[in-house]
Amino acid sequence: MSRHLPINLVEARARGWHELDIILVSGDAYIDHPAIGVPLLGRWLESHGFRVGIIPQPDWRSKEPFMALGKPRLFFGVSAGAMDSLVAHYTPRKKLRHDDAYTPGGRHGARPNRAAIIYTSRLKEAYRDVPVVLGGIEASLRRLAHYDYWDDKVRRSILLDAKADLLLYGMAEYPLLELAQRMQKGEPLALIHDLRGSVYVGKKLPDNHLLLPSFDAVAGSKETYLAAFRQAEHQLNPYCAHTLVQPHGDRLLICNPPAEPLTTQQLDAVYNLPFSREPHPAYTEAIPAFEQIKLSLTSHRGCYGGCSFCAITAHQGKFIQSRSSVSLVAELQALSKKGWFRGTVSDIGGPTANMYGTACNAADGGKNCRRPSCLYPKPCPNLRADDQPAVGMLRKAAGLNGVRTVTITSGIRYDLLEQQPAYFKELVTRHIGGLLKVAPEHLAGQVTALMRKPGKEEFVRFLERFREESRRHGKQQGVVPYLISGHPGCRVDEMVELAQQLQRLKLKVEQAQEFTPTPGTAATCMYYTGLDPDSGQPVYVARTDREKILQKSILLRHLPEERQRSIKLLRELGRNDLLRMLDEGQGGGGQYRRTTPPQKRTAR
Ligand code: SF4
Repeated sequence: MSRHLPINLVEARARGWHELDIILVSGDAYIDHPAIGVPLLGRWLESHGFRVGIIPQPDWRSKEPFMALGKPRLFFGVSAGAMDSLVAHYTPRKKLRHDDAYTPGGRHGARPNRAAIIYTSRLKEAYRDVPVVLGGIEASLRRLAHYDYWDDKVRRSILLDAKADLLLYGMAEYPLLELAQRMQKGEPLALIHDLRGSVYVGKKLPDNHLLLPSFDAVAGSKETYLAAFRQAEHQLNPYCAHTLVQPHGDRLLICNPPAEPLTTQQLDAVYNLPFSREPHPAYTEAIPAFEQIKLSLTSHRGCYGGCSFCAITAHQGKFIQSRSSVSLVAELQALSKKGWFRGTVSDIGGPTANMYGTACNAADGGKNCRRPSCLYPKPCPNLRADDQPAVGMLRKAAGLNGVRTVTITSGIRYDLLEQQPAYFKELVTRHIGGLLKVAPEHLAGQVTALMRKPGKEEFVRFLERFREESRRHGKQQGVVPYLISGHPGCRVDEMVELAQQLQRLKLKVEQAQEFTPTPGTAATCMYYTGLDPDSGQPVYVARTDREKILQKSILLRHLPEERQRSIKLLRELGRNDLLRMLDEGQGGGGQYRRTTPPQKRTAR
């Protein structure tokens, strides 16, 4: 294995490869790092004896760049990249972004909109007879008929729009490997219909299936769309999920149950692969995403928080899959040998840092559980929130030769933290670089309920405990709250309520994220249908740019420009009552100054 997988025929031949088995096409630049899906899968297949190449960010205007590595013996794999291409390209108000963190120089424009569809089309032009397998977040979350915010309509499964041969959703190491091994033995891809985590188009109903409303039915009725969403959301547990069937015209879209979670040994095997942890040497400019991940380690996958605006459960699953501390320490030792390593580890985490090592303690291990969240509305009594594995792992990492600081910048779920006193203490005393990012997302009860998040009481309890613990240990550190404006259920009144709460708690917001209806989430279902998937009741939705701007400006009111904007817009709305409420609360203010830029967005 060399430092990078080949991206052209010269590099392939230097390895003695005159033909490749599998070629992966990606919307991202090639960084040989386990935090990025395509290189991780490439290394995984390579470790099982397959000759794999990567075509990163090909120019999609002609087929030639897609022929850079020739014709693969088995199949092409296509991913739009680490983000959905439309989320990457547009702001929540559909304005074009001018940057792209996964491209050298951070420039916009290295991948097309709807990259998975465009890439497949070019590949089919180049090699009509070679199968194309879709994967990655864009394909994963658009696997069924789904609402598309950018088109403002319900679209078909991306598998049909792309005209690809198969779609693998979720974290696909094992489905992809099984596919490659079966094809290697001569099984045609068109006949492989039993792979977990796969979606295909067929004509025959499989055994033990659950029939979802058809594409036409969900596109024609918001109530039917909601019903289909609820049915699919209850089929995310790989141990008790049915095969889903959704008719699209005269064809059947068949979605097999998700792949089973990886064991610790299996996950270790993936992360122990010899990643160079560097961008491909062909790049001459810095890649912003690399700067964010280069000093971080992934300790686990999955999240059982079930927040309605987040798609992690639909992609990675609810079961936590944790690496061993031995594997993490080995990775850290390799990282510490890098010339640019100065002793600081920016993060050891996953979707939610304090879920490392936790598990379901039910007699069946949760294999028959259909709850979307183990924490909402109340923590499940079966949840084993044991914090010893995480504390032990952090201590081993922080105690390594050459490591000076280990900070935690992944999101923390503070309702879970209530059951984790040792982790809480460890975090507060050793792993906060001055500021802890926490994501209450909102503090108005009716909004947090729709977000499936803990409410204000839990946040206040956490904040008081955090400040007390920090004081006791002589630590000058604060909390950065991450918040969402414009979430379904949030009117201007709730934003004012949130702003007042923040003033009372002496918290100032530096970043507010506007809600984006990304594919596949419960909150997007609310946005589209105007209904709550849990209760079926109507939900208020802020739809105009004007209201979205106002909601955000209320949150950022400590900034002079935003303050003027909120005054103007509230007056135009005739809501002087809300203006007075905001002004009465003035005089609070933040108790911290940000000293470092945020390294990455918290997930929870
Ligand atoms: S039984 Fe409880 S802890 Fe186990 S998976 Fe279900 S909700 Fe989570």
